[in-house]
Amino acid sequence: MSDCIFCKIVEKQIPATVIYEDDEVLAFMDIGPIVKGHALVIPKRHCDPVTETPDELLAKLHIVAKRIAEAQMNGLGADGVNIMQNNGAAAGQEVPHIHVHVIPRFSDDGHHWNWNPKTYDDFDEMNALAAQIQNHL
Ligand code: 5GP
Ligand code: ZN
Repeated sequence: MSDCIFCKIVEKQIPATVIYEDDEVLAFMDIGPIVKGHALVIPKRHCDPVTETPDELLAKLHIVAKRIAEAQMNGLGADGVNIMQNNGAAAGQEVPHIHVHVIPRFSDDGHHWNWNPKTYDDFDEMNALAAQIQNHL
């Protein structure tokens, strides 16, 4: 896609610090790291969102993400890694070309996700939502 920033990175029209490349997948450093060492894994061909991405390609993105996570632990001394993937503006996605975030975490990195768990009114509410999901699987 001509106006996609990640397609432009694939085409080398804009620079990126690449850490992994094969026929289908590119991984590079995120320019705005949540924690320093943050990397992104993308398919070379434009796909978005996750539901439109072929299973084999999605699997490959995550296999590369796993390798990068291991390298962040072994190479950077990360104590843990967050692997995440956003779909849609409501989910915080800014670049509409599928990408897997691989974020190294250190026990003293000071980052917090502000994970704020809610509660269901009762089990009926949770079960009704579960049924709505399950009916579409
Ligand atoms: P999203 O919010 O779509 O899940 O994540 C997009 C990510 O792409 C952000 O973490 C952002 O810092 C990163 N990003 C946006 N533009 C560029 C760019 O031009 N180069 C690089 N390396 N990363 C980018
Ligand atoms: Zn693209």
